[in-house]
Amino acid sequence: MTTEKVVRLSDVDLRLAEEFIEDLTFDLFACYQCGTCTGSCPVARFGGEEFSPRNIIRLIMMGDRDAVLHNSLIWLCTSCYVCEERCPQDVKPPEIIVKLRNIASKEDILPDAWPDIAANILTFGLMNEVGEYENKIRQTRFKLPELPTPDSDTIKKLAEKIKFDVLVHFKEKSGEKE
Ligand code: SF4
Ligand code: SF4
Repeated sequence: MTTEKVVRLSDVDLRLAEEFIEDLTFDLFACYQCGTCTGSCPVARFGGEEFSPRNIIRLIMMGDRDAVLHNSLIWLCTSCYVCEERCPQDVKPPEIIVKLRNIASKEDILPDAWPDIAANILTFGLMNEVGEYENKIRQTRFKLPELPTPDSDTIKKLAEKIKFDVLVHFKEKSGEKE
């Protein structure tokens, strides 16, 4: 059985689109839903049919704020920019997806693993801590050189400067005091 959602024009909530339109570098409503972006997208091709930049734009146009922001699919985009290169209307799906991620982060709608990954970057300077054990595996199994220790203090200062720590709610989640 297929489930179809009827959307009445009178119920369309354009607030999310309006949040975008203020600082987008292109006309979101120029998108005519041709699907070239989705047809070109490697995530849509290999990562599952559900991911679709065309559909993300459609949901924004239909005002379905919750469906867009609570959709973990917005975190799958690899920012390869193929969709942007091929769009006949000069719409830029990666720009839209970055903005959606920023809005979702501000509203603390993050995939479960994201705060931990962000905390690692802010603590160790890497997405995952690389210690003696990991370096040994790199050397013995993969013949790779030891990874240099990142300058985590500088990384943390830079992250704080651009407010990355605020965006990922680092202090609340790690219990670090203001
Ligand atoms: S963003 Fe561009 S390529 Fe994608 S559906 Fe809209 S007009 Fe087509
Ligand atoms: S930038 Fe994102 S949405 Fe666009 S083709 Fe690449 S993975 Fe897909």
